[in-house]
Amino acid sequence: ASRYVSATTAATLTVAIRVRPLVRAEIARGGRRDIIRVLDSRVVLVLDPDDTKDYLDQVQNRTKEKRFTFDIAFGPGCTNRDVYNGTVRDLIGGVLEGINTTVFAYGATGSGKTYSMVGTQQDPGLMILCLEKIFADRDAAHRDEDFSVTCSYLEVYNEIIFDLLVKSSSPLELREDPELGVVVAGLKHITVTSAAEIMGLLEDGNRRRKTEATDANASSSRSHAVLEITVRRTPKNHYKVTQLRGKLSLVDLAGSERAAETNNAGQKLRDGANINRSLLALANCINALGKANGAKGAAAYVPYRNSKLTRLLKDGLSGNSRTAMVATVSGSSDQYHHSINTLKYADRAK
Ligand code: ADP
Ligand code: MG
Repeated sequence: ASRYVSATTAATLTVAIRVRPLVRAEIARGGRRDIIRVLDSRVVLVLDPDDTKDYLDQVQNRTKEKRFTFDIAFGPGCTNRDVYNGTVRDLIGGVLEGINTTVFAYGATGSGKTYSMVGTQQDPGLMILCLEKIFADRDAAHRDEDFSVTCSYLEVYNEIIFDLLVKSSSPLELREDPELGVVVAGLKHITVTSAAEIMGLLEDGNRRRKTEATDANASSSRSHAVLEITVRRTPKNHYKVTQLRGKLSLVDLAGSERAAETNNAGQKLRDGANINRSLLALANCINALGKANGAKGAAAYVPYRNSKLTRLLKDGLSGNSRTAMVATVSGSSDQYHHSINTLKYADRAK
């Protein structure tokens, strides 16, 4: 949809690719090669996974080699802060001005979605870096106003919403609030005063996420996790009190690998079908938004109602909102098919 996206323009969708390095266990197991290259800051080259000869010496028969171009691409040497700087940093100013914003991590299980969103103490993820920036901007502005930041953290599992901030959440329902739009009834919202507070809450929340063994992966995350950060600003000493409210949703999507590939049955197949439904609905919404972008504001039918996830995110995907997608892939040759699927998906979304 949008090239050279600047946060200050009306451009609403940025598509970023992040290639993760092979982790130590993968290297130790052997038999895998690092087959994905980021050629400049936008071009991703996937080498032929079956080509075991040194790529530079091999000129012919690279039949599975594929090349993609995105708004921005991050190679295995990039940190979470690099990804943040190139994608969502410039969107935070808008959130403080009341613009709803959504950031997705999309990719197969094990490709680095949670690493990108939550990260580690040494390499904090987008969720933490966004909060840091919100508080830094507040401090830098010295505005005379009431400023509050609240967070909720939930998962959509099997089309049911659970609160990740409480120990054992019962299923929660979506409701239409005349003022706030779509809300989750009974969801816990906590007031946050620094970015440091959130790491522990995210880690606790992630331990509560429903994971289930599948043929594809021993602990495949089958739920979508959504951190919602709401910033409210109420100017003081002003005869007319108006409140600015901006919502930033950061979404760690369920593994994008298809249910068909995991040879599931019964309950697990139902999970897979529903995850496909949410991901499919999201893909359709993003495609429709991309088309609307291209047509310079032409009304497109965006099928938000088709899944819990898209209903939940409607405010952050529609109207005057901004969206960034970080599509994550592993550079490992044994993940070739997953990586290609993710790159194709991201390619269609842009
Ligand atoms: P996902 O959430 O997509 O299933 P994870 O974020 O859990 O995947 O990542 C899978 C593994 O790869 C984890 O061990 C994680 O620490 C590691 N990893 C992911 N991305 C990176 C990265 N950019 N740099 C280093 N290690 C990473
Ligand atoms: Mg994960």
